[in-house]
Amino acid sequence: MGLLSLLFPPARRKADPQGRKRVLTVPDLIAPGRATEIRVTRNPRARRISLRVDPADGAVALTVPWHVPVEEGVRFARRQGAWLRARLAAVPEGVPFADGAAFELLGRRVRVRHEGKGPARMVGDEIVVGGEPAFLARRVRDFLKAEAKRALAAKARETAARLGKTVKLVRVADPKSRWGSAARDGRLSFSWRLALAPPFVFDYVVAHEVAHLAHMNHGRHFWATVEDLYGDPAPARAWLAANGAALHRHG
Ligand SMILES: [Zn+2]
Repeated sequence: MGLLSLLFPPARRKADPQGRKRVLTVPDLIAPGRATEIRVTRNPRARRISLRVDPADGAVALTVPWHVPVEEGVRFARRQGAWLRARLAAVPEGVPFADGAAFELLGRRVRVRHEGKGPARMVGDEIVVGGEPAFLARRVRDFLKAEAKRALAAKARETAARLGKTVKLVRVADPKSRWGSAARDGRLSFSWRLALAPPFVFDYVVAHEVAHLAHMNHGRHFWATVEDLYGDPAPARAWLAANGAALHRHG
């Protein structure tokens, strides 16, 4: 994670009553005429102003000690224009879920078509979605989450059956730093963005979490179970390491 910081002496002033978190739109930060949203957090424990760029989605976050004015933090960010530009240039390209957007869904090339009214649905190779353009991306995302959940649950149940285990519940979420998790009692959780990954990666993550129903660790027996259920996990793990962050740029 990109991080820059500026150390401040301990609090001399009282906390100001402004909120702890807010989003500031700062003009001309990266380039003239271009506004950048910064998520500002005021932290009572922070000793320094720090500036981060999330390498997955390009979100800019500024942490400011409680006793330092927010404006001071913004001035700090302004002095880091070149650093910010370099960090943002390294963020993978995103695919916004707009009319005409094309991407792989569960191994199949699909395209978004905005038309008329009604909820998102699959028509041939198109995700047809209606309603206000402002809600288009959210409706597509909701549709993809539902598709992901259905496919993940089916694959997880089928894989678990081969292991003699039962999947109690499958949920989908959008965690930043993991693709799935498993609880001993048979509840599995996955990133819905796996539906945008190639099938060999999708299958690997499902096999990985299902294998945890037998081994709640990453020991030798766990990996042997993954191999039994799926085969060699190396290509899928390499794919996630190289491309996982890009999946977070969709939508
Ligand atoms: Zn694991």
